[in-house]
Amino acid sequence: MNVQMKVVAATGNRHKLKEFREIFPDWDIVSEQEAGFSGEVEETGESFLENALLKARAVCRATGQPALADDSGIVVDALGGAPGVHSARYSGGDDADNRALLLKNMQNAANRDAHFTSAIALVFPDGREVTAEGNTFGTILREERGSSGFGYDCLFYSSDLKKSFGEATDEEKNAVSHRGRALAALREKLS
Ligand code: IMP
Repeated sequence: MNVQMKVVAATGNRHKLKEFREIFPDWDIVSEQEAGFSGEVEETGESFLENALLKARAVCRATGQPALADDSGIVVDALGGAPGVHSARYSGGDDADNRALLLKNMQNAANRDAHFTSAIALVFPDGREVTAEGNTFGTILREERGSSGFGYDCLFYSSDLKKSFGEATDEEKNAVSHRGRALAALREKLS
């Protein structure tokens, strides 16, 4: 990919934008606002990949520039895969409310296995679409540990890092995270 080419990050989530830029320091990744996009994309898809494509297509269409979207979430075995694609709006409140609800629903669960999934879509104005997915595995803690990151990070004990994502540095998390792995797979496909 041409280093000068601008890619619009099709996300309103500043944490995702930060991670995109950390993982792809050689890409020129601009925010939706910088690209002049202020709309809301409804995530009506039933899979992470469908939702990532919805977001990237909408932002690419509106801005006329390549758009990069991530749709992601945490998948908890004992909850039958919930909150999954509904991770952002699990409780109807903010990230802290979502974590509180997850802890409550996991109170009596002996099986604490979970994974984060990220689906990435890169959509070009000429209609080309490149997609990739990444996973990272671990368990749901019984209480929050650490304060880095966002979302469910401080409740997720990473099997790779042997600590929670909330206790990890940005570099440590990006090296093993679902988003880091999905973006690495995307880069591989583009090269
Ligand atoms: P999306 O914006 O619809 O993809 O929502 C993703 C949601 O999943 C976020 O709001 C978080 O709750 C959760 N999530 C996704 N990736 C991460 C992560 O890296 N750490 C913690 N939570 C995450």
